[in-house]
Amino acid sequence: MLNIIKDFWFLFGRLFPFPTKPGLRQVGSPDKNSPVLITANFELTVRQVINTLNKDGINAWLLVANTRGINVWCAAGGDNFSTDTVISALKSSKIEEMVDHKRLILPQLCASGVNIHSLKKRSGWQGRFGPVDIKHLAAWLQSGRPNPPAEHRRVLFPFKNRLVMGTNLGVNTLLFAILPLLLASYWLPGFWWKSLLLIFAAAILNCLLVFKLPGKPGLQKGLALGGIAAAIFTVIAVSALHLPFINLSGWLIWIIVIGAYLGYDTPSWSPLWRTDMKELLLGERNTEVSVSPEKCIGCGLCQNVCPAGVFGRDLLSGKSTALHLERCQACGACVENCPAAAIETNFEGGICSCPTCQILNKLK
Ligand code: SF4
Ligand code: SF4
Repeated sequence: MLNIIKDFWFLFGRLFPFPTKPGLRQVGSPDKNSPVLITANFELTVRQVINTLNKDGINAWLLVANTRGINVWCAAGGDNFSTDTVISALKSSKIEEMVDHKRLILPQLCASGVNIHSLKKRSGWQGRFGPVDIKHLAAWLQSGRPNPPAEHRRVLFPFKNRLVMGTNLGVNTLLFAILPLLLASYWLPGFWWKSLLLIFAAAILNCLLVFKLPGKPGLQKGLALGGIAAAIFTVIAVSALHLPFINLSGWLIWIIVIGAYLGYDTPSWSPLWRTDMKELLLGERNTEVSVSPEKCIGCGLCQNVCPAGVFGRDLLSGKSTALHLERCQACGACVENCPAAAIETNFEGGICSCPTCQILNKLK
């Protein structure tokens, strides 16, 4: 029962870090040749990784790095899952005494924080990035291929995940709004619970719809969605419920405000968009990524680490080229790991500017 409550909280309260003890875990019966994996010490992630490995019958050593209880993607974007973090986990776990090799499988989504060339130079460990989703690990290991196939290196945001993140957005927004709503209910009886339902429903709908509708996510799209919701509300209230329009005006403004706020905040709950307040406010991305053909050595690492499938390979020269710029999430993983400093961008990778990362980094 406790685990069900915990899982529920982990799934829908992701604003908060949920640390589990860092250190070395033994999955199955690993020996000196078994694979060594590393992940973040976000409790849900560790449990999911162990469960999946057990289910797929993989014997492995699992290093749980101290990322301050933050999941892989956010920890890497917030500088809490870095090359230093990995080296520290390798050293403190004494994994070198357990295995006869120095090959480490890293989650692909930590690539914006971990530089595998620097890792090799400083620790002797050869890092490889695994698939985005742990459920594809077994097939990749069995295939013997150096890298997971392209379709398992891309981050997707399917319906189930959008539903979970929409609920998270609702919980998060309510935590911030509950006190002002209760205060407002002193003058407007019942205002708090009607608003609570409205915010929650709007957060889930927003996450389900906002990435499916045309246009860039952000404040402007939120305003548009809020306007559409207000119009639908008006039609139903006036024609079906026969409520006088004049009584609705306050609610219409409130619906548009909620829509605008959620439109602004929703992208930061998505793995398709790295939070940047300015971009979210303006609804602009304008990310630029270019590969210098003179510097590129054609190693293909940028293609392996990019979670958005931005890069392709020039068939004639074998060098990388930025093919799908519109997909770029500005995570910085390609720049971090390019061994030839061949990639230029018009944004800075590294520290994420979402409020949680900013607060945690201030507390460092
Ligand atoms: S751009 Fe950098 S990482 Fe990509 S193939 Fe060229 S050298 Fe390798
Ligand atoms: S191209 Fe964009 S999304 Fe892909 S790795 Fe580079 S910064 Fe990240």
